[in-house]
Amino acid sequence: MKVTVEEAAKIIAEGGMVIVTDHEDRENEGDLVGAAVHAGPDMVNFMASRAKGLICCAMDQTHADQAGLELLPVSGGPEAIHGTRFMTPVDVIENCTTGISAYDRSVTLKRLAAADSRPEEFARPGHMFPILEAPGGLAVRQGHTEGSLYLMRQAGVPAVSVICEMMDDDGGMVRGRRIDELAAEWNMGVLSVQDLVNHEAAQAEEPVTLPMEMGDFRMEFLSSDSTHDHFSLFPGYSGSDIQEETFPEDGSSRAPLVRIHSECLTGDLFGSRRCDCGSQLEEALKQISAEGQGYLIYLRQEGRGIGLRAKMKTYRLQEEGMDTLDANLHLGYPADDRDYGEAAAYLKRKGIREIRLMTNNPDKIAQMEEAGIRVHRIALLSKAGDHNRKYMETKQLRMGHLSA
Ligand SMILES: [Zn+2]
Repeated sequence: MKVTVEEAAKIIAEGGMVIVTDHEDRENEGDLVGAAVHAGPDMVNFMASRAKGLICCAMDQTHADQAGLELLPVSGGPEAIHGTRFMTPVDVIENCTTGISAYDRSVTLKRLAAADSRPEEFARPGHMFPILEAPGGLAVRQGHTEGSLYLMRQAGVPAVSVICEMMDDDGGMVRGRRIDELAAEWNMGVLSVQDLVNHEAAQAEEPVTLPMEMGDFRMEFLSSDSTHDHFSLFPGYSGSDIQEETFPEDGSSRAPLVRIHSECLTGDLFGSRRCDCGSQLEEALKQISAEGQGYLIYLRQEGRGIGLRAKMKTYRLQEEGMDTLDANLHLGYPADDRDYGEAAAYLKRKGIREIRLMTNNPDKIAQMEEAGIRVHRIALLSKAGDHNRKYMETKQLRMGHLSA
């Protein structure tokens, strides 16, 4: 089950674990992550017996200095390439036997996370492997170490985590879809290092002013995937701190007006009449501008998520008489591959739990509701012309879109 950074932080704060995946180009692994301060024998035992990787303790410089830990010398090999900054392994001396039992490692972890630990408390070498965070953290190095510590800070616990790679029954590393299978089996939330990077970037980046024909808007970075940056636009004078408001009994609402618009280069930029995206975009911006509050969230998922080139192929089939849905299916693409999770996460970061959403798309409403955002639908008017009448009929009759 995919979780947002906020949800993961809450799980960590309450003493639970989440799975953090890293990029396909990097280790391409899933690590179990928990707070060292909450690392009881159960957590350590679960990591040792189910995840089966090396149980490590990631920490910031402050905790490393306090415990008197020093970096191990580095030479050759993949560890050197990935730059994992291992420090001297330790065991706590007091209340500890051989150092390896789940109980002993739990005691060591908790002492490493304590605000009053001292170097003389620890025996060297031991069975707990401390890893030092790279200076600059997640913005500089996108590893499990830095990701897990970002999560600790979001959770409001000491910046000391316990992490363990996931190894499969056959001894290989758990990758891809198998991570989701195990997450479901263990009832554990999954998020990626990239989610954490995006979260940090979004918090750090101030919106910029974008003077537009219909008035001054503010443009704010939202998140990025491997190829595209997503963003939002909101009226310049409303700021980014619209408070959450609940719906009054009479059905009227002051909840923010929101349009979640998926990129359509042909419609948005060139006003193509094969679809109604361009007019929907314009109408949404007009309404948000007129209200002086709200968000246009622009997600760069061209062609219902299949990309421009594939969309052009479906246009070719539509020229031969197929409708937009059959054209997608004929080419082996899903009817609609769009994901609105980033938009939901963005709104939740702003504390918005209720929106007036300008949409005719029931899937978008369902995804928002599922993400915990209450939706009051506002129909979005757009004009059917000779070129897009069939396209709009298909969306209504075959894809369940609501009429405007
Ligand atoms: Zn379009």
